[in-house]
Amino acid sequence: MITETDVLIIGGGIAGFTAALELGNRGINVLVISSSVKGEGANSWRAQGGIAYFSQSGDEGVFKEDILKAGDGLCNKKAVDQLVSQGPSAIEEFLKDVPFEKDRFGKWSLTKEGAHSTPRILFQGDQTGKAIMETLYEKVRSHPLIAVYENRSAIDLITLSHHSKKVEDIYEPPTCVGAYILCHESEKVYAVFAQENILATGGGGECFLHTTNGKEARGDGIAMAYRAGVRIMNMEYVQYHPTALYIAGEPRFLLSEALRGEGGRLLSGNLEEFVDPLASRDVVARAIFEEMVQSDLNFVWLDMRCKGKAYLMERFPAIYKHCMDRGLYMEKDLLPVVPAAHYSCGGIAVDLEGRTTMRGLRAIGEVACSGVHGANRLASTALLEGLVWGRECAKSITLRKGAFPEVEPWKMGSLKVDRALIQQDWLTIKQTMWNYVGPLRSTFRLKRANKMLIELKWEIDAFYEDAFLTPDLLALRNGCEAALLITQGALRSPKSRGCHYIVDEKLAFV
Ligand SMILES: Cc1cc2nc3c(=O)[nH]c(=O)nc-3n(C[C@H](O)[C@H](O)[C@H](O)COP(=O)(O)OP(=O)(O)OC[C@H]3O[C@@H](n4cnc5c(N)ncnc54)[C@H](O)[C@@H]3O)c2cc1C
Repeated sequence: MITETDVLIIGGGIAGFTAALELGNRGINVLVISSSVKGEGANSWRAQGGIAYFSQSGDEGVFKEDILKAGDGLCNKKAVDQLVSQGPSAIEEFLKDVPFEKDRFGKWSLTKEGAHSTPRILFQGDQTGKAIMETLYEKVRSHPLIAVYENRSAIDLITLSHHSKKVEDIYEPPTCVGAYILCHESEKVYAVFAQENILATGGGGECFLHTTNGKEARGDGIAMAYRAGVRIMNMEYVQYHPTALYIAGEPRFLLSEALRGEGGRLLSGNLEEFVDPLASRDVVARAIFEEMVQSDLNFVWLDMRCKGKAYLMERFPAIYKHCMDRGLYMEKDLLPVVPAAHYSCGGIAVDLEGRTTMRGLRAIGEVACSGVHGANRLASTALLEGLVWGRECAKSITLRKGAFPEVEPWKMGSLKVDRALIQQDWLTIKQTMWNYVGPLRSTFRLKRANKMLIELKWEIDAFYEDAFLTPDLLALRNGCEAALLITQGALRSPKSRGCHYIVDEKLAFV
C-alpha cells in the first residue's frame, strides 16, 4: 500500500486521469484515489453530447463569444482564452485514440449543439463520455508511474495547521500535505502524504432531489477544501437540465435537449403545452419546475410522437433503448420528465494552473471554479475544461522535496450509525435543496433552507465525531456541507444571473 507519493490525485474522472497521464509522462510518481471503479461512477462517463473542438480557422473568437454569452457577464476571460486556445491540442494529445464519429473522408465529424454558433463538437453516438473514459482508463492503468486505488474515498485533507504534531506549524502558511483515505473494503483509514495534492472529485448535483449526476457527485472535494479553509466561490450557480426521465425509484436519466430541437413538446398534466420548447435551457427548466409546484405534479410530459420509430432509434440510440427497456416507446408514448441539477459552475477558486489558496493543493475539473463558465455553462465545455486544466495543472507542477510532518493517526469512532438516519437526512437535504434552492429561488425559501441545513449539519457533525466511519456517512457529511455552501452562496447573491434565479429580484422589476 502506497502511503507516500509525489502527487496524490483524488478523483478518477477526465480531469484526474488527464493530470495523472501528464504527470506520469513527465516522470513523476502519481497515486490516483477514486471512490468508483474504472471511472464508471464519474460524471465524465455519463456525458452524452460531446466535447468542443473547433470548426475552422477563425472559429476561436466565435467560440469565446459563445462561452462569454452563456456565462452572462461573469466569466474569467483569461480562463476562457486558455480553454479555447489549449483545447484542440489537448484533445489531439490525449484523445486521439477515442473512436469519435468520422465523416466519409475519415476526418472527425463535428456536430452543433444549442447556443454554439458553429458545428464544433466531437461525439461518439450519445455516449461520448464512456468512449473518452474507456480510452483514458486504459492509458492510466498501463502507465508504469501511475497507481490507481479504487473503492477508496478521501475523507479530509491533511494540513500542517490542522494535523501536524509540531505545534509551531500553525504559523506556517496553510499547506496541504496529503489526505486521510477510507478503504471501502477493509473499512480502515490511512494517511497518504504527497508533495502536491490535486482534488478532481467533480460536482455536487447529488445534493438535489432530481439530478443527472452520479451518486458520487455530492461535492466531496468542495466540502474537504472548505473544512481546510480554502477559498470557495460562485456556489450559487448550479445549472439545471430541463429534461431528465422520471421513473420512480430510479436515478434520473438525461434526455438530450436535441429532443426538443427535433420537435419535442412539453405538456402539463392536462396535456396542454405550457412552454415554448425551444426557449433557453433555464427558461424551460424554470417553467417545468413552476408547473410541477403549482399543479402538484411529480413530472410533466415530453411528447416525441411527431417522429417515427426508425428516425428516433437512429438519431437517439441510447435514449431510445433506455426508454424502451422501461416499456416506453418514444414514437407512441409520452415520456415523464423533470428538470434536474446538472452542473456546478462554482467550486474551489483556482487560477489557470489549478492552484488554490492553499499551498500544496490544486483543484481541477468540475470541483474547481476557474471562472471559465461564469454564471452558466455552455454545452460541451465541461469535458474540455477537465482536459485542459488537467494538463496545465500537471505541466506547472515542480516538486519541492521535503520531509512530511508527523501527524496524529486517524481516530475511528465505534458508534454504528443507523442507516435509517442516513436515508432520512439525505431525503431532507435533497428535498430542501430542490424546493428551496432549486431552479426557482426566493429569499424566503433560501432563508428557510439555510436554517434547516445549519441545524441538520449540527446534528450530523455531532454523531460523526464518535461514529464508525462508512462511505455512506462520509457522503452524507459532505453532501450537507456542500448543500449549505450552495444555499449560503445564493443568499449572498440577491440578483438573478445566469442559472441563479431569484424570483423576488425579478418581481421588483415588474
Ligand atoms: C448526464 C451528464 C451528461 C453530461 N454531458 C456532457 C457533455 O456532453 N459534454 C460535456 O462537456 N460535459 C457534459 N457533462 C458534464 C461533464 O460530464 C462533467 O462536468 C465532467 O465530466 C466532470 O469531470 P471531472 O473529472 O471534474 O469529475 P467526474 O468525472 O465527476 O469525476 C469525479 C471522480 O471523483 C471521484 N470521487 C468523488 N468523491 C471522491 C472522494 N471523496 N474520494 C475519492 N474519489 C472521489 C468519483 O468517483 C469520480 O471518479 C455531463 C454531465 C452529466 C451528469
